[in-house]
Amino acid sequence: MKKIGVFTSGGDSPGMNACIRAVVRTALHEGLAVAGIRRGYQGFIDGDIYDMDHHSVSNIIQQGGTILRSARCSEFHSPEGRQQAYENLAKFGIDGIVAIGGDGTFTGASIFMQEHPEIKFVGCPGTIDNDLLGTDYTIGYDTAINTAMEAIDKIRDTASAHDRLFFIEVMGRDAGFIAMAAGIATGAEAILIPETHTDIEGLIKKLEWGWENKKNSSIVVVAEGDEAGGAHKIAEMVKARLSRYEIKVSILGHIQRGGRPSCMERVRASRMGVAATQALIAGKSNVMIGIVNNQIVYTPFHQCIKEHQQMDSALVEMVDVLS
Ligand code: ATP
Repeated sequence: MKKIGVFTSGGDSPGMNACIRAVVRTALHEGLAVAGIRRGYQGFIDGDIYDMDHHSVSNIIQQGGTILRSARCSEFHSPEGRQQAYENLAKFGIDGIVAIGGDGTFTGASIFMQEHPEIKFVGCPGTIDNDLLGTDYTIGYDTAINTAMEAIDKIRDTASAHDRLFFIEVMGRDAGFIAMAAGIATGAEAILIPETHTDIEGLIKKLEWGWENKKNSSIVVVAEGDEAGGAHKIAEMVKARLSRYEIKVSILGHIQRGGRPSCMERVRASRMGVAATQALIAGKSNVMIGIVNNQIVYTPFHQCIKEHQQMDSALVEMVDVLS
């Protein structure tokens, strides 16, 4: 291996910069050249690639977002686009790549490697959703749940002051990990996630019980991909049946993607960046780096693409007990 390229792709997440920094510094430490590729696979195709040195990643570990930018690139879906990408990588002398992104990014890498096996890819899980198989934590998740928790705590203050019922929507189109963690941490009365059936009757009963037992505020955390259709729709359904509550909806939205990465985010992202670079140097390819039980593990891309992290049913049961 002579030169490693690094890029970020798909949705951005806090901690990506810490991971980029770790890749660059590890590659240089091992005597390899390293290049940054901007705007995901779009940068491969446009040749938006630049050589990086020690200072290219100075003072970025604490920044959210990604200095390499991110993009969704439709041209990479075509063999012509991927051929153009290959020619640019060859021109820059890149023979190994650390891909920081989600399962779409790893799908693109797998297809590319079938056509151009001389280029090796190792992935780092960059997504706030925490839904990737093969890791206990994805880069961005810890910061996102802390951001959501702090926002929900603030909403709880105003909900308590006015005896209100709040439906708070958090990110998670296909997975409820953000909702589950932020909801448990804020003592939510209910947490509605895509992985489980949304029982509106059961929810109404629980909220009525809360009213009769003089709870002075109620919070229902809703993942955006919940089967009932998100916080606004659920609030409407509940409003039609529970007139005694003053009901409000809050959509947390993109604040969950931004912000300074938490301490553990920076540590885990750094570990994964180091491990990914070392894996490439050791000849590994087609795998995603993860941390499971505090150990670095390697999961083949095809497995991360096919399967997703399962929600722990004990957590779902716990919410009912504690609320
Ligand atoms: P997130 O979890 O944040 O959505 P992701 O990596 O899954 O991250 P996607 O937008 O699904 O995000 O994929 C990122 C990019 O990977 C796409 O914009 C596209 O360039 C490339 N890609 C995804 N699927 C394919 C595919 N089947 N063939 C070629 N390239 C693909």
